[in-house]
Parts: sequence; C-alpha cells; structure tokens
Amino acid sequence: MPEKIIVAGVPVDTRHFIGGRRVASPDTFDDVSPIDGQVLGPIARGGPAEAEAAIAAAREAFPAWAATPRAERARILHAVADGVEKRIEELSAVETHDNGALLRSHRRGVMPRVAHNFRFFADWLLTLGHDDFETRGHTNHVSWDPAGPCVLITPWNAPLMLATWKVAPALAAGNTVVLKPAEWSPLTASLLADIATEAGLPAGVLNVVQGYGAEIGDALTSHPDVRRISFTGSVPTATRIAASAAANLTPLSLELGGKSPLLVFADADLDLAVDLAVEQYDNAGQVCLAATRILVEESVAEEFTRRFEEKASALVQGDPREEATDLGPTIHTRQLEKIDGFVQRALAAGARAVIGGHRRDGQYYAPTLLTDVAQDSEIVQEEVFGPVLTLQTFADEEEAVRLANDTRFGLAATLATGDRERADRVTARLIAGTVWVNCFFVRDLQAPFGGSRLSGVGREGGTWSFDFYCDLKNTVTAPNGWNNHG
Ligand code: NAD
Repeated sequence: MPEKIIVAGVPVDTRHFIGGRRVASPDTFDDVSPIDGQVLGPIARGGPAEAEAAIAAAREAFPAWAATPRAERARILHAVADGVEKRIEELSAVETHDNGALLRSHRRGVMPRVAHNFRFFADWLLTLGHDDFETRGHTNHVSWDPAGPCVLITPWNAPLMLATWKVAPALAAGNTVVLKPAEWSPLTASLLADIATEAGLPAGVLNVVQGYGAEIGDALTSHPDVRRISFTGSVPTATRIAASAAANLTPLSLELGGKSPLLVFADADLDLAVDLAVEQYDNAGQVCLAATRILVEESVAEEFTRRFEEKASALVQGDPREEATDLGPTIHTRQLEKIDGFVQRALAAGARAVIGGHRRDGQYYAPTLLTDVAQDSEIVQEEVFGPVLTLQTFADEEEAVRLANDTRFGLAATLATGDRERADRVTARLIAGTVWVNCFFVRDLQAPFGGSRLSGVGREGGTWSFDFYCDLKNTVTAPNGWNNHG
C-alpha cells in the first residue's frame, strides 16, 4: 500500500499511528469520496494485532503523561490547537472529500471548533480545584487522577469534530488515547496525529488505528488495560460495545442516536419556526441532534407547511465544495439505500411527501418532508439519519408533550413559542439531554452534553468530561502520627 495518498492536494498518511510511529497492515480497504464515488485510496485495515499494539503503546506512555504537570499538558494542547488553526484549509478540504459535508461549514464552523475543543479543555483543566474539607480533625483531599488508556470510537458524520470532543478532554485529564475513526471517514484523524506530533505530544499519548469496527472493535473494547471507552455512534453498535466492555467493567460514555422533536406552537414567530425546521437538513440530515419530527399546532399547520415548502424548495443540493451548496451527498451508497428504504416503506404505508421522497443522481437524497404519518410508524419511531423529516399536528400542549416524548430516544428537543411560561412548562416535561428554545445547535462546551434513554449513557462537557475521564480520589489524613513534622 502507498504510505500516503493525496486528497485535495494534501498528503495523508493512510497507516495507523502507534507509539509515535506509522504502522502498516497487511490488508487495506478503499476509502471512497461520497461526492462522486471516487476511490481516494487504500487505508490500513487494522484488526486485533493493531489494537493490542496501540493499547500497549498507550499503556506505556501513560505514567509519564499522567505525571506531566497540568500547565505543561495544557501548553501542548494549545499547541495542537495552533496546529489545527494553521491547517484549517487542508483539514476542511480533506474532510469534505472524505465525508461530503459542506466545505464552507468546515472552514468557518467545524475546524475552528476543533481547535476550540483543545483550547477549551486545556483551560478547563486548569480550573479544576482540589476539594479539601475536614472530618473530626482529619483532612479530606479530593483529587482528579487520570484514569489510564482510553479507547475513543467515533462516527463519520462530523469526524474530526466528534473525535476531538473526546480526545481533548481525555488528554487534558492526563490519559493516553487510542482513537478509532469511522471507516467511511478515516482521513482527518490521521492528520490530527501529524499535528499532535508537531505540537510536541509525546509518542504513545495519542494513537490512531484504522479499520472496520466489526474487525478491530472488540479487541479495543474488551481489553483489560483500557480504563475508559467513549463512543459516539449508533445504538446497535453501542449495545455490542457495552457487552464487550462488561467483561472488565470498563466505564463507558455513549453518545447515540436520536429522533428529536421540533415543537411549533401557534404563538411562535412562524418564520423563525420555519427557519429552525429547514435547518434540520444541515449536513444532509446526518446530524444526531437533528429535530426530525416536526410537531405543529393544528391552527398554524397549513401556513407553516406552505412557508416550509417554499423555503426548503429553494435549498441548493450538489457538490459540497461549492459555496452556494446547502446540502451535499449522503455518506455512502449503503446509507442512501437505508434512507430510501425508510421513505418508500413510509409512502407505501400511506405517508404523503410534501417535498422530496426520492433519490437523486449519485449519492444525493432529495430533502424530504412526509406528512400523514402515524405516531407508532417506523418513520416516526426510528432514526433515519438522512434529509428526511416528518410533520405531525397537535391540538394542545398536552398532546404536544405526549408526542414529543413518545419514542425510545431522548437526545434533544427544540421549541418554537412566543410564550415564556409555556416554554418553561413544556421544557420541564420534555425528556432530552438538550432543549433549545427559539434556537438550535447553540452548543457551549461548558454545558453537559448527552442523551437520555436510548440516546446515550452519561454526559460529557466541562467538568462532566473530567468526571468521566478521571478517577476521583479522596485522601483522608489523620491530624497526628507524623514523626517528621516540624
Ligand atoms: P456506527 O455505530 O455504525 O459506527 C460508529 C463507530 O463504531 C465507527 O467507528 C465504527 O467503525 C465503530 N464500530 C462498529 N462496530 C463496532 C464494534 N463492534 N466495536 C467497536 N466499534 C465498532 O455509527 P455511524 O453510522 O458511524 O454513525 C451514525 C450514528 O451515530 C447515528 O446513530 C447518530 O445519531 C450517531 N451519532 C450520535 C452523536 C451524539 O453525540 N449523540 C453524534 C454523532 C452521531
């Protein structure tokens, strides 16, 4: 296999990164661009041997990194952020070729946010206090100890963004990392390894292994030396990982799928509500947080639908490298078929497509809005992960809350209402890790992030990330018994 491939003019090493060295595998798999189906190149296809080597490297590097003073760890993470900022153009171009998301979003939003992930957790680390308190003359000293090697497994829909949301706090906490990016978008994780090396991160502190989850995943998640597993991806994979981690009771953080509602009340600013609804097609709908179930109060449903249709029909779908494009392709032909399967079954069951309802050329799926859908139908209950929304109506607040909460998920919910008291009442009753009121996707890294029910286990963000990535230790010291005191 070639050691490097050139993607959008950028050389990308396609091998694993283990113990500070590039390591090839006997086998490879093809990385395909969703933009035009072009093969970008062969990627190292890791298995149990590479998992074992990467975990061994992380284990070996752990004591020195854990003992590195916090300020020095923070300095290196800021240097990683500098490296990301210097390479925003390259990272954006490679990510867009690899996963098909918009180039302009990568440049202006996603990659600056990647750098921010490192800066934020580097700075937050320095704010973590050591609690001290007294019990009958004894002191209690609570410290945030690094946990050990962490396995971080990430999906393809926002590859570097979601990887660094885990890598940054794990490293800041003093842990070492084995990162396994998704096989459909493996490239920017490899560039991150280059950037981290240039920033002075010691060998073995960050390791990157490539490969199919089914082939390398179990060896990573069942390993007794792994002290934390943080996973973002689908529910079926999460259940396999949880079973695999159970052998060692390895603590897990799981950020999973959703079927989140957007509740539009008659008292809402209807144009704002329509904007919020159309925004759900971002990243061609491949967003875990997307509010894919639009619930509208009956009295404004007709007008809402008219304005939505007008606005959504103006969306430009096409090459994600073009500035004017609003919606790119879906990640993979398999994903495209999955999306179309959901839509065709819904149409066969009596749903009506207000817009879309079909594939376009290549890997593109037309933005779709389906009405006449039953609450217990597959299209309302299951995550599609594509540009497919449903629209249902409700008679009153009670019904709105009932419909909103009536799935197995609980990742997010969005409300459009002009009545603050209503917002407070409804928010209090919604089951969701994040609720947005008259806004969407405002995410501060200080906030707890995660899902309820099948949308996840645990919360990350701010101190919650350090709760997860650290072993908290309470040291109780007696006031006497010293022979070298004073
Ligand atoms: P996926 O579960 O198929 O794969 C995610 C990762 O798990 C990939 O790296 C894959 O290689 C790996 N994997 C697969 N099988 C494995 C195994 N047996 N052991 C270990 N690892 C394994 O998910 P996907 O299709 O890549 O991503 C889409 C899903 O991710 C959607 O459900 C979406 O909602 C969810 N998601 C959630 C969030 C969140 O923050 N809650 C964010 C983005 C995406």
